[in-house]
Amino acid sequence: MDIPVQYLKGVGPQKAKLLQKLKIETIKDLIFYFPKRYEDRSFLKKVSELKSDEITTVLGKIVEVKEITPKTKLKILKVGISDDSGIAYGCFFNQSYLKKIFTLGKKVYFYGKVEKRFFETNINVYEYEFWEEEAIHTNRLVPIYSVTENLSPKVLRQIIKNALDKHLEEINEPLPLDILKKYGLPEITTALLNLHFPESLELAELARRRMVFEEFLMFFLAIGKFKENLEKRPGISIIGNGELEKSFLSLLPFKLTPAQEKVWNEIKEDLAANKPMNRLVQGDVGSGKTILAALALVKAVEAGFQGALMAPTEILAEQHYLNLNRLFTPIGIKVVLLSGSLSPRKREAVYQAIKNGYADVVIGTHALIQDGVTFKNLGVAIVDEQHRFGVDQRSSLMQKGLFVNQLVMSATPIPRTLALTIYGDLDVSVVDTLPAGRKPIRTYWISSQDKGKAYAFLLKQVAEGRQGYVVCPLVEESDKLQVEAVTKLYEFLTKKFPQYSWGLMHGRLKASEKEEVMENFRKNKIQILVSTTVIEVGVDVPNANVIIIEDAWRFGLAQLHQIRGRVGRGEHQSYCFLLGNPKNQEGIVRMKIMEKYNDGFKIAEEDLKLRGPGELAGTRQSGTWEFKLADIVRDQSLLFLAKKEADYILKNEENYQEIVNLALKKYQDKISLLQKN
Ligand code: ADP
Ligand code: MG
Repeated sequence: MDIPVQYLKGVGPQKAKLLQKLKIETIKDLIFYFPKRYEDRSFLKKVSELKSDEITTVLGKIVEVKEITPKTKLKILKVGISDDSGIAYGCFFNQSYLKKIFTLGKKVYFYGKVEKRFFETNINVYEYEFWEEEAIHTNRLVPIYSVTENLSPKVLRQIIKNALDKHLEEINEPLPLDILKKYGLPEITTALLNLHFPESLELAELARRRMVFEEFLMFFLAIGKFKENLEKRPGISIIGNGELEKSFLSLLPFKLTPAQEKVWNEIKEDLAANKPMNRLVQGDVGSGKTILAALALVKAVEAGFQGALMAPTEILAEQHYLNLNRLFTPIGIKVVLLSGSLSPRKREAVYQAIKNGYADVVIGTHALIQDGVTFKNLGVAIVDEQHRFGVDQRSSLMQKGLFVNQLVMSATPIPRTLALTIYGDLDVSVVDTLPAGRKPIRTYWISSQDKGKAYAFLLKQVAEGRQGYVVCPLVEESDKLQVEAVTKLYEFLTKKFPQYSWGLMHGRLKASEKEEVMENFRKNKIQILVSTTVIEVGVDVPNANVIIIEDAWRFGLAQLHQIRGRVGRGEHQSYCFLLGNPKNQEGIVRMKIMEKYNDGFKIAEEDLKLRGPGELAGTRQSGTWEFKLADIVRDQSLLFLAKKEADYILKNEENYQEIVNLALKKYQDKISLLQKN
């Protein structure tokens, strides 16, 4: 099975090189190189029935071979075949070398497009095949594979056929027979044969379902084992006396929403348990995840541990610091911020405070996971807006404390199927309702010509005491150009409307400058913030109720939803203006989806439909597991079946050792990557 393709009949060193381009190295790779679709070439027609422009298969005996030259440089080989109803000419353009193989009297299939001219029936032949051979290219459902330059579909199909003929029986059945039976799925050899050369589309689909089920099952087994091992490590049980939690809650200006209540209980249970917490909290923008993070930190401190909160941007880290400091100081919890603007001396002091335990709670960007940082006794590590971090960053915080509990929070809601596969190693909680009284953000898509109206509206709201954001279009090419663009926009607006106070924000500002700008914005000294997407996540200024997004169609849906989430955080009706004239159809669709939906889960679903799971924002580098045939959107029901079956197998592992080992072997690279982190 693992012998190089080169040694297969019909493949030599040259074709082996071409196959390599398709990532096919071994015979096994060939057998597992599945067609992207099938073409039904099974309608065999009589010559007399042929109509112009139809694409079909014809079978006949070769009665004539001639070559004509209608133009210089154009040679047409015409191969006449006859059945009992007439003669049709298969046409081959500039392929004189075929002359030799079409010998008179042989029976051949032509598959191609019919062209009737005067009294002659021609077929522009796409594929031909001799009758003595078992038909694989014509007169049946034909598999269509992705090919590469210089490797024709026909050649690849033949090579795969050879591989199947010779080696299919060597493939071992990985799935236990009782499971196959339970779900009515075909055995592997049948499935492979039917995937490549099915007798019917139904059989092909059944074969596909079997392979998809297997892929999902293997995945869930591997990830389930991984999780089991994680949970076997001794954890820290975090149970306090409840006092600090109580005082914290009593000082909050609001009551927890039922959704927050529910998730908090889930987190509390994890913390109390004697195994490490690995939980993802999903909730739409503005659903109030920060309080859940705060509560987890309070619990850690209450039980005598430290807590850490990592945010993806300086702005957000600082905001968390200000908020939590305000909430925590009255109950005696000491918070420090590990910010980029600290002088070396101050930084050293903060490091000391973390190390000797003076700091109960530490907040920062990924500066938190740098080498200088040592905790005295870290009990809980929280990662906010985790989709902005890579997998390795997310988990290296975990290593800081030996067996620490980790909580990750994401405002990029993804459907449950995706969450299961992308965050298979995490338990998932969902904050599924917003705090009461939130009004949906009114969203309008406005063409560039009319953008004055949006600005006029913004300025009117500002005159009434509100605040707003203007988000500069995305410049993907370079950070420098992005800064230039936002600065230009800021200068233009300041000049044009000097009676308002404008602020400028972008990623290249020094940390201290960013702090100052945000401080002034929070205090309403800055009324309108002109910014790049650095404000995309987490920023919370409830008095801001209008956001203008320039050239909005350039952003992806998830990002637009995040950016829009900067408003709609307070009591005031909020508005979002999406400016610009989309240059493509997808852009238009995105604008319409944004106008229509406020709910992040809905938007994620639409995004999924538009772009497919691989492209969904935030999932790309989160260690997404790639499936060969499975499509987690289309194959949802199989995904859940496989999950159920995997849970069952892991509970009765002694009876299923073989498949569990296979799964671990298949995914050992991925698992060790997770483990490393
Ligand atoms: P996100 O989930 O996007 O991180 P935040 O935690 O920033 O949301 O919360 C958004 C806003 O909602 C904040 O101003 C916060 O104070 C407020 N908030 C959070 N929970 C509640 C609640 N239970 N009732 C009322 N307001 C709340
Ligand atoms: Mg947040």
